[in-house]
Amino acid sequence: MRIGFIGLGNMGAPMAANLVAAGHEVMGFDTTAEVPEGVASVASAAEAAAGADVVITMLPNGAILHAVASEVIPAMPKGAIFVDCSTVEVDAARAVAADAEAAGLGWLDAPVSGGVGGAASGTLTFMVGGGEEAFETVTPLFDIMGQKAVLCGPAGNGQAAKICNNMILGVTMIATCEAFAMADKLGLSRQAMFDVVSTSSGYSWTMNAYCPAPGVGPKSPADNDYQPGFAAELMLKDLGLAQAAAEAADADTPMGEAALALYRRFVEDEDGLGRDFSAMLPRFEGRSRA
Ligand code: NAD
Repeated sequence: MRIGFIGLGNMGAPMAANLVAAGHEVMGFDTTAEVPEGVASVASAAEAAAGADVVITMLPNGAILHAVASEVIPAMPKGAIFVDCSTVEVDAARAVAADAEAAGLGWLDAPVSGGVGGAASGTLTFMVGGGEEAFETVTPLFDIMGQKAVLCGPAGNGQAAKICNNMILGVTMIATCEAFAMADKLGLSRQAMFDVVSTSSGYSWTMNAYCPAPGVGPKSPADNDYQPGFAAELMLKDLGLAQAAAEAADADTPMGEAALALYRRFVEDEDGLGRDFSAMLPRFEGRSRA
């Protein structure tokens, strides 16, 4: 396939490189990042979209997606498919989907889970909103860039799945970190805490696969001085999207709201900026109830 790829940052560059390695022709555009080897560098988003069967975007946020879409949609051939893999507001995805569909294009919102490591190794999970036909056409590309793609329903439902997942992740990470810090004060070793919880009803992905305590459980960013991994500010962004969606849908999400407030404080007022989201554990260490 001929693919336009717009947004070649930490995630987009390895995803585009995997498409090239699988034999696809990829035209790439980014305002600042370098185009990876094998991707043909073009001068604008519209140029990347011209003549493409599929256009993939991997951009920082919904406002940038809107701006790029206004350039890309008129340049895409009728019948081509616009696949946005960025994490953006559910409403932004639905608005751009409507514009794409009005222009005679297919649309999929396909945000990912798996981080930079998953993008490099081609093991991302895609959570997809949009039509079945477009999903079937793009599935071979999802199979190259990832290990699983789930069609979650119509446009916007991929973003809905992503923010629900990440709201659980943020809340669970905080719960895991505060429990470790409390266990310290109760005189429990971290190894004992891990051995019990990882095989008891408190187990979770944050405890079992991404343990925030250094030297305990499988290797994680905690073992690398909390270098991301998944940066606290990205978790803050996703929790903000979750609360915006909750408000729009009139959903009661008190734990998500509390997690957003804590990550906001951690990133904006404390030392969370640039650290992995699991650095909540050193944040709780030594703190008292006051
Ligand atoms: P990034 O900042 O590394 O990459 C974004 C790229 O978009 C940058 O290279 C930037 O120059 C480019 N860009 C910005 N405006 C542009 C424009 N108008 N035209 C063309 N290019 C433009 O971010 P990232 O880590 O690659 O994340 C991308 C998306 O994936 C975000 O929505 C993020 O929330 C999501 N995501 C990231 C991770 C992760 O672990 N990094 C995991 C899952 C999802």
